[in-house]
Amino acid sequence: MSQTPPPRARAEIDLAALRANVRALRARAPQAALMAVVKSDAYGHGMVPCARAAQAAGATWLGTATPQEALALRAAGIQGRVMCWLWTPGDPWREGIEADLDMGVSGLWALTEVTAAARETGRPARIQLKADTGLGRNGCQPADWPELVAAALDAEAEGTVKVTGLWSHFACADEPGHPSIAAQLDVFREMVAYAEKEGVEPEVRHLANSPATLTLPESHFDLVRTGIAMYGISPSPELGTHEELGLRPVMTLAASLALVKQVPAGHGVSYGHHYVTSHETTLGLVPLGYADGIPRHASGRGPLLVGGERHTIAGRVAMDQFVVDLGGQKIHEGAEALLFGPGDRGEPTAEDWAEAAGTIAYEIVTRIGTRVPRVHL
Ligand code: PLP
Repeated sequence: MSQTPPPRARAEIDLAALRANVRALRARAPQAALMAVVKSDAYGHGMVPCARAAQAAGATWLGTATPQEALALRAAGIQGRVMCWLWTPGDPWREGIEADLDMGVSGLWALTEVTAAARETGRPARIQLKADTGLGRNGCQPADWPELVAAALDAEAEGTVKVTGLWSHFACADEPGHPSIAAQLDVFREMVAYAEKEGVEPEVRHLANSPATLTLPESHFDLVRTGIAMYGISPSPELGTHEELGLRPVMTLAASLALVKQVPAGHGVSYGHHYVTSHETTLGLVPLGYADGIPRHASGRGPLLVGGERHTIAGRVAMDQFVVDLGGQKIHEGAEALLFGPGDRGEPTAEDWAEAAGTIAYEIVTRIGTRVPRVHL
């Protein structure tokens, strides 16, 4: 198979930038270890190469949502600590134990399944008890914590588990000053103190995601779990741009124009004719669409750079393609369209796309589809 990606489109992944971001984040949390969050194919950047690059830059933990993602890291030969936290009844606990994963446990059902798997394998499972300190999503409620802690200690005494971590997740760390931040910190400290008083001896206590790593040193504890910032993207406009945060975007999304043609004034463009040319002009066809993760909501709004000039999507984004009105620009098929990147060449950033599509930059990069080859540089 050819190593050269097809010319239609590609997502270039700058692993040197990822490594620099990991180092920058470690400098922000010098007392804590760093977990590189590589779930969802490393937010669309390619899980295995990003995991290796993060480890090379000093990440001592890797984090995924599903056990299948964590097992895929092991299948690729990746060593070191790997934690996964989104378990569903019937998931492969046994394989998780055999693969030396650290497994998030949010409730008694999970503890029951993991201890049964540990008895089968004859090996203790490494588990990390997750507290819901206020996110209202996964994790054990404070009212149910004593029961979960007691059951985990019983399982430790039986030799079926080792509680390696106590942890939680923020709801609003990307909104500095939000009252829930201090409240969650207090609840976390209380829940950790309770578990430790009862006899749990965790290796790591952790709460911080990217925004908390960047803005809230008191939340760093033993480990910070960074995702979006590692990919060089600001967690939210309120925290500043990636440049202001000292981060470098890792993904550049580029395509080649598939067709360039002249059309007269008054020509409708793309489904629904939401764009009509105001004068005779040149249209360029970009061979990327919503099947590739280009948000349809960015129709008429998404920015891009074609042959060094900034343009906006003309009309609707279709499944596989969209159109750009190039005006009088002299350009040919095969010319490069840069949808987003670090911005050095005047191209938009993923943050710009998030604004244009009314979403967050997390979604912009994570949804770039599998038809777009990732080229790791
Ligand atoms: N920790 C958990 C449990 C997560 O689900 C995520 C991502 O959503 C992260 C950490 C990383 O968050 P961020 O990308 O904001 O750093």
